[in-house]
Amino acid sequence: MEARRFVDEPRKTGPDHLSGLAMSLHVGSDCVLCLPDEERVIWRNDFARVISVCDETYPIFCRVITNQHWVEFSDLSSTDRVQIMHVVYVVERTLRTLLNPTKVNIASFGNVVPHVHWHVIPRFERDPHYPNPVWGARTEGQPVLPPAGFWEQFRASIKEQLAA
Ligand SMILES: [Zn+2]
Repeated sequence: MEARRFVDEPRKTGPDHLSGLAMSLHVGSDCVLCLPDEERVIWRNDFARVISVCDETYPIFCRVITNQHWVEFSDLSSTDRVQIMHVVYVVERTLRTLLNPTKVNIASFGNVVPHVHWHVIPRFERDPHYPNPVWGARTEGQPVLPPAGFWEQFRASIKEQLAA
């Protein structure tokens, strides 16, 4: 199946109730994941990248993003689907190895930014929303900071694992 791209192709159909902001994001030139203002890239190749979201509440929140603008996971070829899920897997496993979190949350929405990407979030019982989703009701916890040297270790580990 040919990949759908929106670079020169504004969405022609869709819900009428979407705001002007949401609709404008469907145009590739305005897509914040196609043309990010600023990103803290942990790893990247020609196909995808892993970034730190730099979220104050969730300082270890990572995102796996395809470099090309696809709207839905099923727009990718079978090879690309395997490749991107392997990146998600490596990020999840490495977070577990380095941090031993209570749980790792993996989410893909794309309602506001319809560009294929995954949120990969290590969760801890002491974090600000546990056991709720990070977008859910706040609980008593506090942001969990990474240990010293974490980002260097994380970067080196996923680089090594994804080099093959
Ligand atoms: Zn995009």
